[in-house]
Amino acid sequence: MDIVIPLGFAALSGLATLAGGQLALTIVRRQSILLSLSAGAIFAVALVAVLPEAIHLGRGFWHVSGLLAIAALGYAAYPLLNRALEAGGNGIANHGGPFSFALHAGLGGFIAAVGFGQSAHAGLVMASAAIAHGIAHGINTVALAKAPGLSRPATARWLVINASAPMLGALLALVVRVDETILAAIMAVLAGVFLFISSHSLFPRTGSAGVRDHVAVAIAIVVVTAFALIAGH
Ligand SMILES: [Zn+2]
Repeated sequence: MDIVIPLGFAALSGLATLAGGQLALTIVRRQSILLSLSAGAIFAVALVAVLPEAIHLGRGFWHVSGLLAIAALGYAAYPLLNRALEAGGNGIANHGGPFSFALHAGLGGFIAAVGFGQSAHAGLVMASAAIAHGIAHGINTVALAKAPGLSRPATARWLVINASAPMLGALLALVVRVDETILAAIMAVLAGVFLFISSHSLFPRTGSAGVRDHVAVAIAIVVVTAFALIAGH
């Protein structure tokens, strides 16, 4: 397997993640707008990127309804797991959002490395997609760390972890082989987790939030959906 190219794209995406995170930390002063943008982005990513990818990976093995049921279970299980972690009282539960996103970024690198030989699109298209994706990852990582009130150093640490995750995923693909049925199931769970996190931790509350916040959600959904349609996923 040629690892250099996927690793290069993963590194590019990682750098963009750092840049996106820095952008979110410095430019976006109104935290509610940042959270709203991220709510829309993560919600849309779950529906138009992660779930379709899960269905694509699982074709021939999983019924679409089976994968959607797994996503629903992920949605229901996440808050229970979070509650159980909260009971431990060491603040680990606050890291659930950025952790699930690290998993998503790592899986992205892993799947790209595995599938690279089969679908080598034009390099420029993939590079720009990796950069745009990375910037979104950076912004979302900051939002997911800020929503439960993680400190700035903790947010910065998650940013570095999530920026390295695609490269780690690509490297892991060299040594580990994960069945596509399992990858599809993991992605379905992640889609459910993302739907929960975006709708419960990030979405502005109807009624109390300003119109701007709801507009920000809509804009993020439109942008992510447009990107997904252009990329053909
Ligand atoms: Zn992503």
